[in-house]
Amino acid sequence: QLALEISGLKKTYKGGFQAVKGLDLEVSKGDFFALLGPNGAGKSTTIGVITSLVNKTEGLVKVFGHDIEKELDLAKSFLGLVPQEFNFNQFEAPLKILVNQAGYYGVPRKIANQRAEKYLKQLDLWQKRNEPSRNLSGGMKRRLMIARALMHEPQVLILDEPTAGVDIELRRHMWDYLRELNSQGITIILTTHYLEEAEMLCRNIAIIDHGKIVENTSMKALLSKL
Ligand code: ADP
Ligand code: ADP
Repeated sequence: QLALEISGLKKTYKGGFQAVKGLDLEVSKGDFFALLGPNGAGKSTTIGVITSLVNKTEGLVKVFGHDIEKELDLAKSFLGLVPQEFNFNQFEAPLKILVNQAGYYGVPRKIANQRAEKYLKQLDLWQKRNEPSRNLSGGMKRRLMIARALMHEPQVLILDEPTAGVDIELRRHMWDYLRELNSQGITIILTTHYLEEAEMLCRNIAIIDHGKIVENTSMKALLSKL
């Protein structure tokens, strides 16, 4: 079963810059998938289109068979997004941020509280649950972003450069946590410009450059070629 299906995706930004130039991609359910490429290759744009933060110019995107254009809410309900920038309200505390997020997806309050507790504990944020999140360290903020993306229990977790600016110790913890989520059946798609990260984690990989996929293969096959 395909978790994600992209065909003929194009994105031209206002002003005429073509960031994605006809991209095809398939990700199977349960996969751990990397979209690897240099800065400016079109990774964030592609993720933006999948999560409907960016309007595509052309092409088709389906999430578990549901067209993001025709069945937007359903398609979105499968997806959890961890964007690069910290875009939560820094004046709010982690617990509140998580419970509010669940609220946007219609999760009942009681379940939202239980889930928030679970993820705050798993991600080692429980002690900080009631502190304004601006007081959290960068690594804690990054983990809060992951917890927030999990609050509606998505089938697919999409992370844009998840360990950018994260030190090696925390990076290893985050990798372990992502592996654990994947082993529970969550499909994981991450972008990175860092081959080692893809190598450590991912089963399949697509390499993107100048808005086009230039390689799409298993991690094993790629490594045997290098
Ligand atoms: P990546 O995530 O691989 O670094 P992006 O998808 O962020 O790449 O960007 C791809 C290209 O599109 C870059 O050249 C970037 O400058 C350009 N771009 C991104 N967002 C916009 C925008 N809102 N308007 C115009 N150009 C953009
Ligand atoms: P809530 O409505 O859930 O209580 P708010 O989003 O109103 O939370 O934020 C709480 C407080 O923080 C408010 O007083 C709001 O004005 C302030 N606040 C939120 N975001 C910013 C920001 N980016 N800069 C300055 N103040 C902010």
